[in-house]
Amino acid sequence: DNSTAFLEVNNIEVIYDHVILVLKGVSLEVPKGGIVALLGANGAGKSTTLKAISNLLGAERGDVTKGNILYKGEAVESLNPSDLVKRGVVQVMEGRHCFEHLTIEENLLTGAYTRKDGRKAIAQSLELIYDYFPRLRERRSSQAGYTSGGEQQMCAIGRAMLAKPDMILLDEPSMGLAPQLVEEIFEIVKKLNQNEGVSFLLAEQNTNVALRYSDYGYIMENGRVVMEGNAKELSENEDVKEFYLGLS
Ligand code: ATP
Repeated sequence: DNSTAFLEVNNIEVIYDHVILVLKGVSLEVPKGGIVALLGANGAGKSTTLKAISNLLGAERGDVTKGNILYKGEAVESLNPSDLVKRGVVQVMEGRHCFEHLTIEENLLTGAYTRKDGRKAIAQSLELIYDYFPRLRERRSSQAGYTSGGEQQMCAIGRAMLAKPDMILLDEPSMGLAPQLVEEIFEIVKKLNQNEGVSFLLAEQNTNVALRYSDYGYIMENGRVVMEGNAKELSENEDVKEFYLGLS
């Protein structure tokens, strides 16, 4: 039902270096308040899809050559990334990208750079994030480069939250993390969704965990969406079990 779509991606194609067709007509929707998973193997096109939405492809010589992207009903394909942040969509890139030489707190505060609501409001947001991520409060004065992978992932999500987003595009949050930490991070994502009303589109190779925490999922193969459905249905689907959940 299009009337409830918050983010709507319609049949986009992406080409790298003018020749390599990487997305071959991808469509998806994220409803307001939803958690939607974008699933598939390494190289299927998940990161490219998220970067197309945030307009971050330019730096990698990628181009959206077909289709359109709507956010709250408005076309956003030609916005620059910081304008999209101002409209409420923030991306957490794969590999986390904390500033290693800044402290955790300084990293978090960089997320607030587009805000105009003043220091006091930003300080309140910081406290809120520390309530969600007590580990970050403990590590607030540590240089990010000396914190663990899990703490850096939390920092990257926390930094995105400091922009006061309506939607976070989260690329591969589980990457390189121990299972228990992955659960911890997804639990917090769920809480941010429920309590702060943030919608999530998350790209994940870890199908199992992603489907447990999402409402809806899209499975990509070779630049296309090959299957979609609500998360429970997908997790019970025989093909999904065989190819993506390793339970066959
Ligand atoms: P991963 O989990 O590894 O990020 P993915 O599903 O996110 O996988 P993408 O990173 O979107 O997949 O990659 C999709 C395809 O595009 C792959 O074949 C990849 O080699 C190719 N690709 C990605 N970035 C570039 C680039 N900058 N230039 C050319 N090809 C690229």
